[in-house]
Parts: sequence; structure tokens; C-alpha cells
Amino acid sequence: MVDRSTIWPYKDGEPGEFIYQRYGHPAGVEAERQLGELDGGHALLFASGAGATTALVLTFLSSGDKIALAEGAYFGTGVLFHELERWGLHVVEFDQTGRPPDGVDLVWLEAPSNPFLTMPDLEAAAGHPARVVVDATAATPIYLRPLEHGADFVLHSATKYLGGHDDVLLGAVVCRREGDAERLKEFRTRSGIVAAPDPCALLLRGLETLEPRVRRQTESATELAKRLKGHPAVQTVRFAGIGGLLSFDVAGADEARHVETSIRLITNATSLGGMHSLLEARARWEGDRVPPGLLRLSVGLEPVDDLWDDLAQALDGVVAD
Ligand code: PLP
Repeated sequence: MVDRSTIWPYKDGEPGEFIYQRYGHPAGVEAERQLGELDGGHALLFASGAGATTALVLTFLSSGDKIALAEGAYFGTGVLFHELERWGLHVVEFDQTGRPPDGVDLVWLEAPSNPFLTMPDLEAAAGHPARVVVDATAATPIYLRPLEHGADFVLHSATKYLGGHDDVLLGAVVCRREGDAERLKEFRTRSGIVAAPDPCALLLRGLETLEPRVRRQTESATELAKRLKGHPAVQTVRFAGIGGLLSFDVAGADEARHVETSIRLITNATSLGGMHSLLEARARWEGDRVPPGLLRLSVGLEPVDDLWDDLAQALDGVVAD
């Protein structure tokens, strides 16, 4: 039974562990304990991945500070940072497979990047004097624990693999230092960018099956990446070798639309990391930042041969047209 209380009575006139839901609640504390263990740090949950990003940046940066953002990282993160330029933040993009630029106050990496699937040079970033954030949404703690590679923070859109069932919107930051977690928690309480009890309870359910889910998704994605490379309608396949996320290019926007509207088992929808496979052309959101024929595929738990049959019949139509 999820405790949805917003208040807990004082005992003998003294507040207890739980006081008021915005400060903390049982499902959130337990989910943070488990996620902290998985990533080897101090975890805090937020209302969404974007909410976690906002809280992290507003807590640790000030007007005039500069963020070095990995090129090709989640489109929404860049859009959000540009939105925050109105408050005096500056953003520069850089190639995360190399060294981050000098003169920045925060380094923002993504492992692997969505939808370009590059992996950051974590060692080069750890040698940088600025604080380092790794958005490891697509890797999950099963494949990467960035704090062990010198990162200061791990960020997750827990909406994706951690939740795992496309029915929970949540974000998380896992801090290497307890002091940073305390500052961030204070900001979270004050700003109210908090995770409600029900999504936290759903996250606890998702964490129980995280490892078998992502291992199977990785296995299937590895096989599908191999088969996609051999299909005549596919020009490029991007896959980091971990997780269930991959992207591939067909010739152009019309061909991508054909695939989107021909798939039957795979759902044509945005997002990633759930039990069901999802595919979409990213140009609809990202414009000319991505090739017009780029299709992002989040591999779910369906049998891999069924997934291939579905992709192959959609791609065969591209070749036949
Ligand atoms: N980070 C990555 C890599 C994402 O893919 C997303 C969402 O797609 C986010 C952050 C934002 O998370 P949310 O949608 O939970 O706000």
C-alpha cells in the first residue's frame, strides 16, 4: 500500500522522520536508497528527468556560468539549457568522445547519447576541473556506474529503463558527495520539483526487473543492429553495444515515414526504455540536427525474430517503392 499522506502527525510535539510530503515520503526514500545502491552514491528523485536536470543546474550554477554540453545529446536537454540562457547561463557544445573545453563550470555528458549513440571519454572528463554530470539514462547502472569513473553526478530519466513500463514519469540525480546531495535536496524541497509517492512506488516495481530487462534488450538490440546493417534500405546503424537503444538511417524523410507507418508489432511513438519496442523518426522533433531518415529504435522484450520480421517487412517496402 502506497503511503500517499501529505502530512504525518508530530509525536509529543516533535516532528518525526516524515513531516510534509514535499520534504520526503516513504516510497521516495526507499526508491532513493535502492537507486543510490545501484549507482554507488546518494540518489534524489524528481518529477521528471527534465525536472532533475533543471534542479541540478539551478542548484550548482549561477548567472554567468558556462555548461559544456555533449553534441548529439538528448535534444530536450539542449533546449532547456538554451531556455536558461535568459537567466545568464551559457552553453557550448563539444564532441564528448574527446576532452571537454577549458573555461566551463559544468561538463554535461550522455552515455550513450540519444539518438547518436556516442560514448563519452569519461577519463578525459574526470581530469577536467569542472563538475561532471553523466546522463546515463540509456546505459542504466547495470552497464555503467559513472561515479566510479570520476563523475560527480549521474542523471537518469527514470521514465525510461528504470521505470521500464511506460507508465511513470520520474527523474533522478545520484551524487558522489553527501554534501552535494544535501544542497540539491534543499533546493528540491524549496522549488517543489518533487517526485510523488505513486511514481516512486512504480519505480520500485521497475527496479526489481531492471537487470534481466536491460540484459535481454541489449542482446536483442545487438542482433537487430547486425541484421539492420545487412538490409539494403539501411544506410547507417548506430549502437553503443549496451542497452536497448539504437538508431539507423533510411534514405530520407519519405522512407522514414514509410517505416513508421508500416510497423505493426513495434509501436510508432516517442520515448525509450520500456518493455514494448518503440520507433520514431527523430527529425520531427530535432529538425536538421539529425538526418531526415534517422529512425530511433528502443528495443523492448518481444522475441527478437518477431521484431526483425516486423522491421524487415517495413524496410522491404522502402526498397520496393
Ligand atoms: N535524458 C535523456 C537521455 C532522455 O532521453 C530524456 C527524455 O527523453 C530526458 C533526459 C528527459 O527525461 P523526462 O522525459 O523524464 O523528463
